[in-house]
Order: sequence, then structure tokens, then C-alpha cells
Amino acid sequence: MTRPAWDAYFLNIAASVSARASCPRAKVGAVLVTADHRLLATGYNGAAPGQVQCDEAGCLMEDGHCQRALHAEVNAVAFAARFGVRIEGATLYLYIDRDDDGEADVCRECMKVLRAAGVKVGPVATRSRPVGPV
Ligand SMILES: [Zn+2]
Ligand SMILES: [Zn+2]
Repeated sequence: MTRPAWDAYFLNIAASVSARASCPRAKVGAVLVTADHRLLATGYNGAAPGQVQCDEAGCLMEDGHCQRALHAEVNAVAFAARFGVRIEGATLYLYIDRDDDGEADVCRECMKVLRAAGVKVGPVATRSRPVGPV
């Protein structure tokens, strides 16, 4: 029996997390991991907990973007903040459930939040950039 490598392990977790996304425009899952491979926080894209979700009320579109949903990366950082989990020095693993159009990556706004929180961007997987052996 072969065990998955760490990158495949965390990208597969991120893929599972993405299935919970509540904004129909994208299904994205994020996980934050320590340097010694401990899972700290997860997030998927959708409105903040307790708020009306896109899959109930529709997206709130402005300038071609849904304003209701937070991105998975920001929700993962907020999850950590909510429970007092230190994420400085952590690595982000991201799964984007769509075909890779060459632009599937962390957006500029999330990049700013991750930098401010001391999180490094790690591997990003998509349907066409698969996560490796399970
Ligand atoms: Zn939406
Ligand atoms: Zn983003």
C-alpha cells in the first residue's frame, strides 16, 4: 500500500472542502498547514457563517464578481482567527474545481490577506492540474 505524499494529501483534503462551497460561480477549497504537516484551518468560498448564502438567494453580482461570497482563502484565515489558531508561517493548499484556463490561482485580494497573515502560497490544483495519487 502506498501512502500519498503530503502535497497530494492536503490537495485532496482541499478538494473535499471545495464540495461545501455555497457560491455556484466557483467551488474552491483552501487548507492551511504547518511546516511539519499539521492541518490548522479549512475554508471554502461562500458568504460568512450565518449570512444568506448564494445557493439560497443567488449571487450578489457587481463588476463581474460575486460580492456575497468570501473566497476560500479568506474564509480559512477567518476560521483560524475565530478559534485563535496561529497561522503565521503556514502554507496554503488550494483546490479549484474547474478546468484550468491558465488563470486558476490565488487572486490579488486573497494574496494581500495571506501576506498580512504570514501565510505562504503552496500548491494549487484544478481539475486539469490534478492532485496526484491518492
Ligand atoms: Zn455567489
Ligand atoms: Zn481570492
